[in-house]
Amino acid sequence: MNTKVEIKPSEKLLKLPKYIFAELDEWKEEARAKGQDLIDLGIGNPDGATPYTIVDAAVESVRRPESHGYPSFRGKKEFRNAISQWMKKRYNVDIDPDTEIQTLSGAKEGLAMTALAYTNPGDINIVPDPYYPVLSRGTWVASGEILHLPLTPENNFLPDLDSIPEDVARRAKLFFVNYPNNPTGAMATKEFFEKLIKFCTKYNILLVSDLAYAEICYGGRRPISIFELEGAKDIAVEFHSFSKTFNMAGWRIGFVVGKKEYIDTIHNMKTNFDYGTSNLVQDAAVKALTMDFSNADHVRMNYERRSNFVAQRLQALGWDAKPLQATMYFWLKVPNGYDSKTFCRMVLDKTGVVLTPGIAFGTHSDKFFRLSIVQPDARLHEAFDRLAAAGIRFV
Ligand code: PLP
Repeated sequence: MNTKVEIKPSEKLLKLPKYIFAELDEWKEEARAKGQDLIDLGIGNPDGATPYTIVDAAVESVRRPESHGYPSFRGKKEFRNAISQWMKKRYNVDIDPDTEIQTLSGAKEGLAMTALAYTNPGDINIVPDPYYPVLSRGTWVASGEILHLPLTPENNFLPDLDSIPEDVARRAKLFFVNYPNNPTGAMATKEFFEKLIKFCTKYNILLVSDLAYAEICYGGRRPISIFELEGAKDIAVEFHSFSKTFNMAGWRIGFVVGKKEYIDTIHNMKTNFDYGTSNLVQDAAVKALTMDFSNADHVRMNYERRSNFVAQRLQALGWDAKPLQATMYFWLKVPNGYDSKTFCRMVLDKTGVVLTPGIAFGTHSDKFFRLSIVQPDARLHEAFDRLAAAGIRFV
Protein backbone atom coordinates (compact mmCIF):
# COMPACT_ATOMS: atom_id res chain seq x y z
CA MET A 1 0.00 0.00 0.00
CA ASN A 2 1.31 3.42 -0.66
CA THR A 3 -1.46 5.56 0.88
CA LYS A 4 0.23 8.46 2.61
CA VAL A 5 -0.71 8.48 6.27
CA GLU A 6 -0.59 11.83 8.03
CA ILE A 7 -1.77 12.05 11.60
CA LYS A 8 -1.52 15.59 12.85
CA PRO A 9 -1.19 16.65 16.48
CA SER A 10 -4.13 18.62 17.87
CA GLU A 11 -4.63 22.25 16.85
CA LYS A 12 -3.96 23.21 20.47
CA LEU A 13 -0.55 21.62 20.50
CA LEU A 14 0.34 23.03 17.09
CA LYS A 15 -0.58 26.50 18.33
CA LEU A 16 1.78 26.35 21.31
CA PRO A 17 4.82 28.50 20.55
CA LYS A 18 8.08 26.68 19.97
CA TYR A 19 9.83 26.23 23.30
CA ILE A 20 12.89 28.50 23.00
CA PHE A 21 14.80 26.05 25.18
CA ALA A 22 14.41 23.51 22.35
CA GLU A 23 15.95 26.03 19.94
CA LEU A 24 18.76 26.61 22.43
CA ASP A 25 19.40 22.86 22.42
CA GLU A 26 19.78 23.03 18.64
CA TRP A 27 22.34 25.86 18.99
CA LYS A 28 24.27 23.76 21.50
CA GLU A 29 24.21 20.70 19.24
CA GLU A 30 25.59 22.76 16.34
CA ALA A 31 28.35 24.22 18.53
CA ARG A 32 29.31 20.78 19.87
CA ALA A 33 29.38 19.38 16.33
CA LYS A 34 31.95 22.09 15.53
CA GLY A 35 34.04 20.77 18.42
CA GLN A 36 33.41 23.71 20.77
CA ASP A 37 33.81 23.07 24.53
CA LEU A 38 30.56 24.49 25.95
CA ILE A 39 30.17 26.02 29.41
CA ASP A 40 26.45 25.93 29.97
CA LEU A 41 25.28 28.92 32.01
CA GLY A 42 21.85 28.53 30.44
CA ILE A 43 20.51 25.75 32.61
CA GLY A 44 18.62 25.63 35.90
CA ASN A 45 19.43 21.99 36.62
CA PRO A 46 21.25 21.83 40.00
CA ASP A 47 24.82 20.56 39.54
CA GLY A 48 25.30 18.94 42.97
CA ALA A 49 24.35 15.51 44.27
CA THR A 50 21.33 14.78 46.46
CA PRO A 51 22.45 14.56 50.14
CA TYR A 52 23.44 10.95 50.86
CA THR A 53 20.98 10.52 53.76
CA ILE A 54 18.13 11.07 51.27
CA VAL A 55 19.65 8.62 48.78
CA ASP A 56 19.97 6.02 51.57
CA ALA A 57 16.27 6.38 52.42
CA ALA A 58 15.35 5.63 48.78
CA VAL A 59 17.66 2.61 48.71
CA GLU A 60 16.03 1.19 51.85
CA SER A 61 12.59 1.85 50.40
CA VAL A 62 13.26 0.15 47.08
CA ARG A 63 14.09 -3.07 48.96
CA ARG A 64 10.64 -3.11 50.61
CA PRO A 65 7.96 -4.88 48.53
CA GLU A 66 5.29 -2.43 49.73
CA SER A 67 7.11 0.28 47.80
CA HIS A 68 6.55 -1.54 44.54
CA GLY A 69 2.80 -1.09 44.03
CA TYR A 70 0.87 1.89 42.79
CA PRO A 71 1.28 4.88 45.13
CA SER A 72 -1.71 6.54 46.77
CA PHE A 73 -3.16 9.37 44.69
CA ARG A 74 -2.80 11.99 47.42
CA GLY A 75 0.59 10.82 48.58
CA LYS A 76 1.67 8.58 51.45
CA LYS A 77 0.36 9.46 54.88
CA GLU A 78 3.96 9.66 56.25
CA PHE A 79 4.85 12.10 53.48
CA ARG A 80 1.82 14.30 54.08
CA ASN A 81 2.54 14.32 57.83
CA ALA A 82 6.15 15.33 57.12
CA ILE A 83 4.94 18.16 54.84
CA SER A 84 2.53 19.42 57.46
CA GLN A 85 5.30 19.46 60.11
CA TRP A 86 7.70 21.16 57.67
CA MET A 87 5.16 23.93 56.94
CA LYS A 88 4.78 24.47 60.69
CA LYS A 89 8.52 24.45 61.38
CA ARG A 90 9.64 26.63 58.43
CA TYR A 91 6.67 29.03 58.17
CA ASN A 92 4.58 28.54 61.31
CA VAL A 93 1.64 27.68 59.10
CA ASP A 94 -1.02 25.03 59.90
CA ILE A 95 -1.72 22.62 57.05
CA ASP A 96 -4.03 19.63 57.54
CA PRO A 97 -2.13 16.55 56.29
CA ASP A 98 -5.34 14.74 55.34
CA THR A 99 -7.16 17.39 53.32
CA GLU A 100 -4.84 20.27 52.45
CA ILE A 101 -1.96 18.58 50.59
CA GLN A 102 -1.56 17.00 47.18
CA THR A 103 1.70 15.21 46.34
CA LEU A 104 3.09 16.09 42.91
CA SER A 105 5.71 14.69 40.58
CA GLY A 106 7.39 18.10 40.67
CA ALA A 107 5.82 21.54 40.87
CA LYS A 108 5.80 21.83 37.08
CA GLU A 109 3.10 19.26 36.38
CA GLY A 110 1.00 20.59 39.26
CA LEU A 111 1.10 24.13 37.92
CA ALA A 112 -0.04 22.93 34.49
CA MET A 113 -2.78 20.75 36.03
CA THR A 114 -4.06 23.68 38.08
CA ALA A 115 -4.52 25.82 34.98
CA LEU A 116 -6.31 22.94 33.25
CA ALA A 117 -8.48 22.30 36.29
CA TYR A 118 -9.75 25.87 36.54
CA THR A 119 -9.65 27.52 33.12
CA ASN A 120 -12.64 27.67 30.79
CA PRO A 121 -12.27 28.94 27.22
CA GLY A 122 -12.18 32.75 27.35
CA ASP A 123 -11.17 32.99 31.04
CA ILE A 124 -8.27 35.30 31.71
CA ASN A 125 -5.29 34.16 33.77
CA ILE A 126 -2.75 36.71 34.93
CA VAL A 127 0.95 35.87 34.52
CA PRO A 128 3.74 38.36 35.27
CA ASP A 129 6.34 38.52 32.48
CA PRO A 130 9.14 37.30 32.40
CA TYR A 131 7.89 33.95 33.66
CA TYR A 132 8.77 30.27 33.94
CA PRO A 133 7.14 28.92 30.75
CA VAL A 134 4.77 26.38 32.31
CA LEU A 135 2.88 29.23 34.01
CA SER A 136 1.25 29.95 30.66
CA ARG A 137 1.09 26.51 29.02
CA GLY A 138 -1.93 25.07 30.86
CA THR A 139 -3.94 28.22 30.14
CA TRP A 140 -3.18 27.98 26.42
CA VAL A 141 -4.13 24.33 26.25
CA ALA A 142 -7.40 25.16 28.04
CA SER A 143 -8.05 27.95 25.48
CA GLY A 144 -7.88 30.63 28.14
CA GLU A 145 -6.41 34.08 27.61
CA ILE A 146 -3.42 35.54 29.40
CA LEU A 147 -2.77 39.01 30.71
CA HIS A 148 0.94 39.55 31.12
CA LEU A 149 2.13 42.17 33.61
CA PRO A 150 5.69 43.35 32.96
CA LEU A 151 8.33 42.81 35.65
CA THR A 152 11.05 45.43 35.30
CA PRO A 153 13.92 46.79 37.41
CA GLU A 154 11.82 49.98 37.77
CA ASN A 155 8.97 48.12 39.54
CA ASN A 156 11.41 45.90 41.52
CA PHE A 157 10.14 42.96 39.45
CA LEU A 158 6.74 43.11 41.17
CA PRO A 159 3.61 43.30 38.97
CA ASP A 160 1.66 46.56 39.08
CA LEU A 161 -1.79 45.53 40.27
CA ASP A 162 -3.15 49.04 39.71
CA SER A 163 -2.47 48.69 35.97
CA ILE A 164 -5.02 45.86 35.60
CA PRO A 165 -8.19 47.15 33.94
CA GLU A 166 -11.36 46.62 36.00
CA ASP A 167 -13.11 44.54 33.30
CA VAL A 168 -10.07 42.25 33.00
CA ALA A 169 -9.86 41.80 36.77
CA ARG A 170 -13.53 40.77 36.79
CA ARG A 171 -12.92 38.12 34.12
CA ALA A 172 -9.70 36.83 35.70
CA LYS A 173 -9.65 33.32 37.15
CA LEU A 174 -6.06 32.59 38.22
CA PHE A 175 -3.16 34.85 39.20
CA PHE A 176 0.25 33.13 39.00
CA VAL A 177 3.20 34.47 40.97
CA ASN A 178 6.66 33.06 41.56
CA TYR A 179 8.89 34.52 44.31
CA PRO A 180 11.81 33.99 44.72
CA ASN A 181 11.56 34.55 41.00
CA ASN A 182 12.93 32.68 38.04
CA PRO A 183 14.42 34.30 35.96
CA THR A 184 14.87 37.70 37.67
CA GLY A 185 16.12 36.45 41.06
CA ALA A 186 13.75 38.92 42.77
CA MET A 187 11.98 38.36 46.08
CA ALA A 188 8.55 39.73 46.94
CA THR A 189 7.80 41.85 50.00
CA LYS A 190 5.16 41.08 52.60
CA GLU A 191 3.40 44.31 51.59
CA PHE A 192 3.18 43.13 47.97
CA PHE A 193 1.70 39.79 48.99
CA GLU A 194 -0.81 41.52 51.28
CA LYS A 195 -1.95 43.75 48.43
CA LEU A 196 -2.16 40.74 46.10
CA ILE A 197 -4.32 38.80 48.58
CA LYS A 198 -6.71 41.77 48.84
CA PHE A 199 -6.84 42.07 45.06
CA CYS A 200 -7.56 38.36 44.52
CA THR A 201 -10.18 38.36 47.27
CA LYS A 202 -11.95 41.40 45.78
CA TYR A 203 -12.10 39.90 42.29
CA ASN A 204 -12.62 36.26 43.25
CA ILE A 205 -9.35 35.06 41.72
CA LEU A 206 -7.37 31.98 42.77
CA LEU A 207 -3.82 33.03 43.64
CA VAL A 208 -1.31 30.40 42.52
CA SER A 209 2.00 30.94 44.28
CA ASP A 210 5.01 29.01 42.99
CA LEU A 211 7.55 28.69 45.81
CA ALA A 212 9.94 26.38 43.92
CA TYR A 213 12.97 28.42 45.11
CA ALA A 214 11.76 28.66 48.69
CA GLU A 215 15.04 27.82 50.40
CA ILE A 216 17.41 29.36 47.86
CA CYS A 217 17.70 32.82 49.48
CA TYR A 218 20.90 34.46 50.67
CA GLY A 219 22.22 36.96 53.19
CA GLY A 220 19.90 35.75 55.96
CA ARG A 221 16.77 36.38 53.86
CA ARG A 222 13.90 33.98 54.26
CA PRO A 223 11.04 33.20 51.90
CA ILE A 224 7.43 34.07 52.69
CA SER A 225 4.77 31.42 52.52
CA ILE A 226 1.57 33.06 51.34
CA PHE A 227 -0.21 31.30 54.20
CA GLU A 228 1.69 33.35 56.77
CA LEU A 229 -0.55 36.22 55.71
CA GLU A 230 -4.13 36.86 56.69
CA GLY A 231 -6.84 35.89 54.23
CA ALA A 232 -4.59 33.73 52.02
CA LYS A 233 -6.17 30.41 52.91
CA ASP A 234 -9.44 31.44 51.28
CA ILE A 235 -7.97 32.32 47.91
CA ALA A 236 -4.53 30.74 47.44
CA VAL A 237 -2.64 27.55 46.71
CA GLU A 238 1.13 27.24 47.07
CA PHE A 239 3.52 24.98 45.16
CA HIS A 240 6.70 23.52 46.65
CA SER A 241 9.49 21.61 44.97
CA PHE A 242 12.37 19.40 46.12
CA SER A 243 14.36 20.04 42.93
CA LYS A 244 16.40 23.04 44.06
CA THR A 245 16.35 22.83 47.87
CA PHE A 246 17.63 19.25 48.03
CA ASN A 247 19.27 18.85 44.60
CA MET A 248 16.48 16.44 43.66
CA ALA A 249 15.47 17.72 40.21
CA GLY A 250 15.69 14.28 38.63
CA TRP A 251 13.64 12.53 41.31
CA ARG A 252 10.48 14.46 40.31
CA ILE A 253 8.74 15.35 43.54
CA GLY A 254 6.91 18.34 44.96
CA PHE A 255 3.60 19.22 46.57
CA VAL A 256 0.82 21.77 46.63
CA VAL A 257 -0.85 23.03 49.81
CA GLY A 258 -4.07 24.96 50.29
CA LYS A 259 -7.72 24.81 51.29
CA LYS A 260 -9.45 21.44 50.84
CA GLU A 261 -11.71 22.59 48.04
CA TYR A 262 -8.77 23.71 45.85
CA ILE A 263 -6.67 20.66 46.66
CA ASP A 264 -9.63 18.41 45.81
CA THR A 265 -9.96 20.11 42.42
CA ILE A 266 -6.28 19.66 41.56
CA HIS A 267 -6.48 16.10 42.91
CA ASN A 268 -9.47 15.42 40.69
CA MET A 269 -7.63 16.62 37.58
CA LYS A 270 -4.51 14.61 38.48
CA THR A 271 -6.30 11.34 39.22
CA ASN A 272 -7.60 11.40 35.66
CA PHE A 273 -4.09 11.56 34.25
CA ASP A 274 -1.59 9.79 36.50
CA TYR A 275 -1.03 7.48 39.45
CA GLY A 276 1.04 9.78 41.59
CA THR A 277 4.66 9.78 42.65
CA SER A 278 6.72 6.64 43.18
CA ASN A 279 6.66 5.38 46.81
CA LEU A 280 10.42 5.24 47.07
CA VAL A 281 10.75 8.85 45.94
CA GLN A 282 8.18 9.84 48.58
CA ASP A 283 10.18 7.92 51.23
CA ALA A 284 13.30 9.79 50.17
CA ALA A 285 11.37 13.06 50.38
CA VAL A 286 10.21 12.25 53.93
CA LYS A 287 13.88 11.97 54.87
CA ALA A 288 14.61 15.30 53.14
CA LEU A 289 11.95 17.09 55.21
CA THR A 290 12.83 15.46 58.52
CA MET A 291 16.66 15.27 58.42
CA ASP A 292 18.94 17.81 60.04
CA PHE A 293 18.57 20.81 57.73
CA SER A 294 22.32 21.47 57.68
CA ASN A 295 22.41 18.59 55.21
CA ALA A 296 20.65 20.86 52.71
CA ASP A 297 22.28 24.10 53.84
CA HIS A 298 25.41 23.35 51.88
CA VAL A 299 23.36 23.56 48.62
CA ARG A 300 22.38 27.14 49.44
CA MET A 301 25.81 28.14 50.79
CA ASN A 302 27.48 26.86 47.66
CA TYR A 303 25.29 29.06 45.43
CA GLU A 304 25.78 32.05 47.73
CA ARG A 305 29.56 31.80 47.46
CA ARG A 306 29.33 31.58 43.66
CA SER A 307 26.90 34.49 43.49
CA ASN A 308 29.43 36.73 45.28
CA PHE A 309 32.32 36.07 42.94
CA VAL A 310 30.15 36.02 39.79
CA ALA A 311 28.81 39.49 40.69
CA GLN A 312 32.41 40.74 40.91
CA ARG A 313 33.35 39.20 37.58
CA LEU A 314 30.25 40.71 35.94
CA GLN A 315 31.12 44.13 37.36
CA ALA A 316 34.61 43.82 35.87
CA LEU A 317 32.92 43.40 32.46
CA GLY A 318 30.77 46.51 32.92
CA TRP A 319 27.51 45.00 34.20
CA ASP A 320 25.79 46.68 37.12
CA ALA A 321 25.51 43.39 39.03
CA LYS A 322 25.02 42.82 42.75
CA PRO A 323 25.28 39.47 44.56
CA LEU A 324 21.97 37.61 44.27
CA GLN A 325 19.20 37.88 46.88
CA ALA A 326 17.82 34.49 45.85
CA THR A 327 17.77 31.75 43.16
CA MET A 328 20.70 30.75 40.97
CA TYR A 329 20.10 33.31 38.23
CA PHE A 330 21.51 36.67 37.26
CA TRP A 331 19.05 38.63 35.10
CA LEU A 332 21.11 41.07 33.09
CA LYS A 333 20.65 43.65 30.36
CA VAL A 334 22.00 42.82 26.90
CA PRO A 335 24.51 45.37 25.60
CA ASN A 336 23.05 48.21 23.50
CA GLY A 337 22.30 47.35 19.90
CA TYR A 338 21.43 43.71 20.58
CA ASP A 339 18.23 41.76 21.08
CA SER A 340 18.49 38.84 23.48
CA LYS A 341 18.77 36.03 20.93
CA THR A 342 21.37 37.79 18.78
CA PHE A 343 23.48 38.56 21.85
CA CYS A 344 23.33 35.02 23.28
CA ARG A 345 24.07 33.49 19.88
CA MET A 346 27.06 35.78 19.38
CA VAL A 347 28.43 34.90 22.86
CA LEU A 348 27.99 31.19 22.15
CA ASP A 349 29.73 31.39 18.77
CA LYS A 350 32.65 33.43 20.08
CA THR A 351 33.21 31.78 23.46
CA GLY A 352 31.27 28.52 23.87
CA VAL A 353 29.48 30.07 26.88
CA VAL A 354 25.74 29.30 26.85
CA LEU A 355 23.34 31.99 28.14
CA THR A 356 19.53 32.02 27.97
CA PRO A 357 17.94 34.81 25.90
CA GLY A 358 15.34 36.78 27.87
CA ILE A 359 12.79 36.19 25.13
CA ALA A 360 12.60 32.56 26.34
CA PHE A 361 10.79 33.92 29.41
CA GLY A 362 8.31 36.26 27.75
CA THR A 363 7.74 38.95 25.22
CA HIS A 364 8.66 41.81 27.56
CA SER A 365 12.15 40.46 28.13
CA ASP A 366 14.04 40.79 24.88
CA LYS A 367 16.51 43.25 26.38
CA PHE A 368 17.67 40.78 29.05
CA PHE A 369 19.44 37.46 29.35
CA ARG A 370 19.72 34.92 32.17
CA LEU A 371 23.05 33.70 33.47
CA SER A 372 22.86 30.68 35.74
CA ILE A 373 25.52 29.88 38.34
CA VAL A 374 24.86 26.16 38.22
CA GLN A 375 28.39 25.13 37.22
CA PRO A 376 31.45 24.31 39.35
CA ASP A 377 33.48 27.36 40.44
CA ALA A 378 36.37 26.61 38.07
CA ARG A 379 34.06 26.45 35.05
CA LEU A 380 32.36 29.70 36.08
CA HIS A 381 35.75 31.41 36.28
CA GLU A 382 36.72 29.97 32.93
CA ALA A 383 33.49 31.27 31.38
CA PHE A 384 34.35 34.80 32.56
CA ASP A 385 37.95 34.45 31.34
CA ARG A 386 36.56 33.57 27.92
CA LEU A 387 34.08 36.49 27.90
CA ALA A 388 36.87 38.89 28.88
CA ALA A 389 39.24 37.49 26.23
CA ALA A 390 36.53 37.86 23.55
CA GLY A 391 35.93 41.47 24.57
CA ILE A 392 32.31 40.85 25.60
CA ARG A 393 31.23 43.66 27.88
CA PHE A 394 28.14 45.60 28.83
CA VAL A 395 28.15 48.84 26.89
N1 PLP B 1 8.79 26.76 39.12
C1 PLP B 1 9.85 27.46 38.71
C2 PLP B 1 9.80 28.93 38.80
C3 PLP B 1 10.98 26.82 38.20
O1 PLP B 1 12.03 27.54 37.78
C4 PLP B 1 11.00 25.42 38.12
C5 PLP B 1 12.15 24.68 37.56
O2 PLP B 1 13.12 25.21 37.11
C6 PLP B 1 9.86 24.74 38.54
C7 PLP B 1 8.77 25.42 39.04
C8 PLP B 1 9.78 23.24 38.39
O3 PLP B 1 9.95 22.60 39.59
P1 PLP B 1 9.90 21.02 39.63
O4 PLP B 1 11.26 20.52 39.27
O5 PLP B 1 9.48 20.72 41.03
O6 PLP B 1 8.88 20.56 38.63
